Amino acid sequence: MGPIVFNKPHYTGRETLRIIEAVDSGKISGDGIFTKKCHNIFTERYRFRKTLLTTSCTDALEMAALLTDIKPGDEVIMPSFTFVSTANAFCLRHAKVVFADSRPDHPGMDEDAIEPLITDRTRAIVPVHYAGVACNMDLIMALAEKHGLYVIEDAAQAIDSYHTGKDGTARPLGSSGHLSTFSFHETKNLQCGEGGALIANDPRFADRAEIVWEKGTDRAAFWRGEVDKYGWVDIGSSFLPSELTAAYLFAQLQELDEIQRTRKGIWDRYHDELKSLFAAQTVRGPHIPEYATNNAHMFYLVCGSTEERSRLIDHLKRSHIGSVFHYQSLHASAYYRHRHDGRPLPWSDIYSDRLLRLPMHTSLRPEHVAFISERIRDFYG
Ligand SMILES: *Cc1c(COP(=O)(O)O)cnc(C)c1O
Repeated sequence: MGPIVFNKPHYTGRETLRIIEAVDSGKISGDGIFTKKCHNIFTERYRFRKTLLTTSCTDALEMAALLTDIKPGDEVIMPSFTFVSTANAFCLRHAKVVFADSRPDHPGMDEDAIEPLITDRTRAIVPVHYAGVACNMDLIMALAEKHGLYVIEDAAQAIDSYHTGKDGTARPLGSSGHLSTFSFHETKNLQCGEGGALIANDPRFADRAEIVWEKGTDRAAFWRGEVDKYGWVDIGSSFLPSELTAAYLFAQLQELDEIQRTRKGIWDRYHDELKSLFAAQTVRGPHIPEYATNNAHMFYLVCGSTEERSRLIDHLKRSHIGSVFHYQSLHASAYYRHRHDGRPLPWSDIYSDRLLRLPMHTSLRPEHVAFISERIRDFYG
């Protein structure tokens, strides 16, 4: 068996055909045919009010910070165990990021930790659906309503994952927050190298989102013939990807069900192979709360210590298996530790120090998963 890499971006084989079509159409700048085809898939499949493809999830988060008019000194609550872009988007607006701890049973933000952090300067809550597993959106939306806050879902990893509310309705992640963001970076389930999307669910943001996306102009409305000339109407930037990117992504969107089926098969296989270790509490496996679905974005272990994790990484490396840890708590980062208010966030630190991600991509065969699992069982002997 050859080396088993940690990630291999999915490739359907039809991306280049779609890109050739885009080139042949004579228009490869943004907001063309393929961008619209992608938007329509999101609208039809997930009933998102407004979807705008972006050059990255990072850019979509920056759009969200602009749209919610975050001002210097405003406070934004988010988990410390997340990617830098979740925080950067608001730091760029000179907001104060207030970090919440993770849940003991899951790396997602502890919903019970949020309310004590709310002050009269709090403007938004940014839940991150870690590993594509839903935060409890019922609790978060209720808190936001009670305190008059915006919710911006960082759904970067959460394509095609759902949250079942108290009312029994399963809602796609990205559809509950006032605004939501997705990533199509090559490490995500659906990918186009670099790409993302902003979702505007709150009707107050739908028109303005399009303007901020198009450099602060009403060009999108102009193309639709709604205004007879376009001009500068608001602040904005260039957040839209070219048609080459949209064409690539469209090929992947068309295969979403097959991609998800393959990934879930791999995830279930890992779980089957390793469940005896989880049952014996030898090592912790992933946790999916009963209100959440699994989109098989990631398969992770939580080791007993940092030292154990390092030994396991080395053990797997000797069998040519790539495994990698993940975020380092942002409250303890070089940039933020002097800005953080000093509260310890022990669970965020535990996941920083002990979480390990196993290879998870559509090129893995059942025998690869069996081999990786066998090496892990051997490690725990
Ligand atoms: C991947 C990721 C991002 C950034 O996505 P890009 O498309 O690379 O900008 C942001 N937040 C989370 C939680 C992510 O996993």
